Amino acid sequence: MPNRPSLHAVESSVCFVDVVHKLNDSFDTGKTQSLEWRKSQLKALENLLKDNQHDILQALKNDLGKCKTEAMVAEQGFLLSDIKHTLKHLGKWAKPRKVSTPMVAWPGKSFRKPEPLGTVLIIGAWNYPLQLLLAPYIAAIAAGNCAVLKPSELAEETSSLVAKLIPQYMDTSCVAVIEGGKDEATALLACKWDHIFYTGGEAVGKIVMNAAARHLTPVTLELGGKSPCFVDKDTNLTVTARRLVWGKWMNAGQTCIAPDYVIVEKDFEQKFIEAVKKELKKQYGKKPLLSRDYGNIINHRHLKRLESYLENVNVVYGGELDEARPAMAPTLVLEPSLDSPLMKEEIFGPILPIITVDNMDAGIKLVNSRPKPLALYAFSDKDSVLDNIISKTSSGSVCTNDTMLFMTNPELPFGGVGNSGMGSYHGQAGFDTFSHIKTIMKRSFALDVFFRYAPFSKFKLSLLKKFL
Ligand code: NAD
Repeated sequence: MPNRPSLHAVESSVCFVDVVHKLNDSFDTGKTQSLEWRKSQLKALENLLKDNQHDILQALKNDLGKCKTEAMVAEQGFLLSDIKHTLKHLGKWAKPRKVSTPMVAWPGKSFRKPEPLGTVLIIGAWNYPLQLLLAPYIAAIAAGNCAVLKPSELAEETSSLVAKLIPQYMDTSCVAVIEGGKDEATALLACKWDHIFYTGGEAVGKIVMNAAARHLTPVTLELGGKSPCFVDKDTNLTVTARRLVWGKWMNAGQTCIAPDYVIVEKDFEQKFIEAVKKELKKQYGKKPLLSRDYGNIINHRHLKRLESYLENVNVVYGGELDEARPAMAPTLVLEPSLDSPLMKEEIFGPILPIITVDNMDAGIKLVNSRPKPLALYAFSDKDSVLDNIISKTSSGSVCTNDTMLFMTNPELPFGGVGNSGMGSYHGQAGFDTFSHIKTIMKRSFALDVFFRYAPFSKFKLSLLKKFL
């Protein structure tokens, strides 16, 4: 069991030390070590998601105007398949793995044994408020941890639904939901955790890492950034436009791995724009703000932020607003200045800038002059073009000839690199994130080689060299 230092709380009106104490005490009983307990908790979470589908979809609709299909696929369904995959592989992931032992330690056996970390803090973001809170929780349970979940206060209804349902289904001695915003998050971060898993923006990511450093707590930071999308002129343009529109305007562009901007060659620009416009009309109609499949912007502050990006740029399509929803129509901007806020900040909304370059290598240079993105997309019929982009750029993930679909493969770890984050999860990567790999060597008293002990000699050293 972890040796627990005293817990501290900052001077704040809220303090969660007692909550953490209670979970630590449960962890210390050893109950979460058992695979049966972990499986029963995963099944309980599965039941929570299935039994409450209607309320979940309604909360997501109220928070983000999320349509039923998107909510089922990217939130509830995503989590259900994550649980299924985890239940199927948990035995294998959790099993101690025997590894070879060097001759000098014979007779002996060596193992790598995953063990839970303890009590972990999971801080979620608002754009996929259920998925981003519960997917790390699935991994935390699988690895045998207790957890505190802090949903995003901006997705209010989902937050209160999670706070209501978790105690109804889960073992409350091992999990707590703390609702709230900055004050609550600050007080939580002041406590001593065994791991902090944060999803959100870079600025708060730095606050989280700073707070974790005080206790030497390891962190996973799932951040964002500007994910570029290369479109080569030799591409199946109809399918490219269809898949790009799907990935960019799902959840009204408020997806951390949505294509942020597109890079095309100059002589291809108009053809590309026409194809995207055509596809936008197909998927969301001529009046997208009236489409029931098109999502809202999370709040008026974010709508204002997005509106400000359209000042002094060339809007070639869309740009309409619905203040009441609030929402912004799918918008295309041609050739914004690379120094404009639109091209400097993560857009996280339904605006797609189109940047033209002389050739793809110039596009690669542009991408490499900026912080490493969370995702990178490239469309081309030619493998040589795709391979060139993959090998010359660095990003959390790459997907060619599609957008966002790599998220559906639990065999692929998901996470950023550089400014887009650190650490990863999904499938076994999540289990590993919430585990410590304890190394175990079991020796016997038989055979005790004399040459490892002093007094040393040249002869002993030569034997040691051979055996090591
Ligand atoms: P955010 O940084 O505003 O908030 C995220 C969480 O941090 C919330 O739970 C919030 O309560 C908490 N928080 C806010 N202020 C805090 C403070 N001062 N101290 C401690 N905690 C605080 O981020 P956001 O606006 O919710 O999310 C948008 C960003 O998140 C984008 O950059 C996006 O790319 C990124 N994101 C990344 C992923 C991913 O999986 N990598 C997923 C979704 C969003």
